[in-house]
Amino acid sequence: GKGDIHAEVVVLGSGPGGYTAAFRAADLGKKTVLIEKYPNLGGVCLNVGCIPSKALLHVAKVITEAEEMGAHGISFGKPKIDLDELRSFKDSVISQLTGGLGGLAKGRKVQVVQGYGTFTGPNMIEVIGDNGRTTVSFDQCIIAAGSEPVKLPFIPHDDPRVIDSTGALELKDIPKRMLILGGGIIGLEMACVYDALGSKITVVELMDQIIPGADKDIVRPLHKRIEGRYENIFLKTKVTGMEALKSGLKVTFEDEKGESFTDTFDKVLVAVGRKPNGKLIDADKAGVAVDDRGFIAVDSQQRTGVPHIFAIGDVVGQPMLAHKAVHEGKVAAEVCAGHKRHFDAKLIPSVAYTDPEVAWCGLTETEAKTKGIKYEKGVFPWAASGKSLSNGRSEGITKLLFDPEDDRVIGACIVGTNAGDLIAEVALAIEMGADAVDLGHTIHPHPTLSETVNFAAEMFEGTITDLI
Ligand code: FAD
Repeated sequence: GKGDIHAEVVVLGSGPGGYTAAFRAADLGKKTVLIEKYPNLGGVCLNVGCIPSKALLHVAKVITEAEEMGAHGISFGKPKIDLDELRSFKDSVISQLTGGLGGLAKGRKVQVVQGYGTFTGPNMIEVIGDNGRTTVSFDQCIIAAGSEPVKLPFIPHDDPRVIDSTGALELKDIPKRMLILGGGIIGLEMACVYDALGSKITVVELMDQIIPGADKDIVRPLHKRIEGRYENIFLKTKVTGMEALKSGLKVTFEDEKGESFTDTFDKVLVAVGRKPNGKLIDADKAGVAVDDRGFIAVDSQQRTGVPHIFAIGDVVGQPMLAHKAVHEGKVAAEVCAGHKRHFDAKLIPSVAYTDPEVAWCGLTETEAKTKGIKYEKGVFPWAASGKSLSNGRSEGITKLLFDPEDDRVIGACIVGTNAGDLIAEVALAIEMGADAVDLGHTIHPHPTLSETVNFAAEMFEGTITDLI
């Protein structure tokens, strides 16, 4: 039957995956409806993820750079931090972007329905919102329901001193001593912010390195720098208990030898991963399979087991990144419009916007070793880069991996300031099948950090001359 509203394409969730899919579907002539439970569009990324974290990381960078200018003969006083002003700067960035999205939806005649949507059948979604109940019938659907932070059973999540990334971005206060539970990208980015604002930081990570996923040698310069700034970094250590006391949160740790110790913190940020929202939308009523963890499996056209229902973004799997969601959103919308599009990207770059940044794409050395893939590498240490020395930050490393058969670049790992921007060149090189000579013979502007990509290729070729 027909719902209160009928859509040719309905998109469930308005994060980077969802709004991209909705806009693309509308641009391709489809009557499109976008369902979002929050009044603001933009999902996690714009409201409580990528964007607010980067606004705060920018501020953190300015603070630490000013502190470190002392070594170059320039001293500033201790920064005066007005948390209310900082919060409103961050909020203004968010509202500028989410407001912009609202305008873009209107301009395309994408109808936004506010409320929480669940399937009631293979062609029907029911939305419960501030204005009551609306039914939306559809020809095709794109699920973009995203993910939320993982909670741990033995942690008193109800205590206001226990926060997740959303809580950390709220900037309620600057705790004296803060524990970051989880040494992944989100935890370390928030650690970076609160360290700059004046908190004493402890990081605890189960694995034997921070930022598991990136190569160890590439993570080392970041580890070394934060080791000098933070109170503690516990690796191969797990948190086994947490007690909410008046004096603070008493945390029990267990190290690799099985020995326990405790410490008390003013705040604990739990950043142990994110779980997909697949189980929360009654997908079974539409016949869409959701696995135990909440992920929805899709084919290379983003199609679920039900041919007219697609899924994209965090809800379909790792890596949970905005640019992956956006790319998948375009694929799904174009397939809905009858195009023969597939997800055929060779790689999805990952970036930790810590200080220094850590970025990687394609094959990593760790992955090559575990899978027995043959590779050769070109490594350029930034201590020989004129630009990084001028910046006073020469700890970076640019590492490129090549296929020994044809010298094509197949992976990169970069650590250093602006590594996130630098990785894009290598991503393009890999997509285009470029080889070491292509990267080595392309004239890069001097002096820039981008030269380190050029130099890493020349290190591999053995054609490097002066180190500058
Ligand atoms: P989401 O952004 O999760 O959006 C899903 C939307 O759907 C939400 O608005 C939700 O309210 C809505 N929704 C869900 N279910 C329903 C329903 N049933 N009815 C109505 N609405 C519903 N990624 C990067 O690439 N770079 C970064 O720098 C980065 N930084 C991050 C920092 C933090 C602190 C966090 C938490 C994440 C970060 N990410 C980053 C990850 C990024 O935010 C996600 O990968 C991205 O937002 C996923 O997009 P999505 O479209 O799949 O879903």
